[in-house]
Amino acid sequence: MRVRVLTEAQKERARERASLHYYANIEKHKAHAKAWRKANPEKCQTYYAKYRKAQPMKHKARWTVWNAKVAGKLVVPDHCEECGVEANLDAHHDDYEKPLDVRWLCRDCHAAHHKGERT
Ligand SMILES: [Zn+2]
Ligand SMILES: [Zn+2]
Repeated sequence: MRVRVLTEAQKERARERASLHYYANIEKHKAHAKAWRKANPEKCQTYYAKYRKAQPMKHKARWTVWNAKVAGKLVVPDHCEECGVEANLDAHHDDYEKPLDVRWLCRDCHAAHHKGERT
């Protein structure tokens, strides 16, 4: 068997294509995930429980943010703190130990922020 070694540039292009494909079909992906959740509620539960167990701090931090948002204690800005674009912003935690210490980032900035980060 011959192993084809990809250059870094080729790998980068492959990654770009994959993410472009993903974003071009994001609605489809979302619908697919929704349908899957509906069809597999138990699996979804197990998955969620596993996730919660694996990342308790992360889960707690998200939960705290959500609660604070609902209670009106945390006001979500209109613009991304990084690039200033007006969008639906994600709460990003630099430190999950400080659940209310969040930065509001657009999806692109948030994704860029986590790129290469193992979570
Ligand atoms: Zn941004
Ligand atoms: Zn984040």
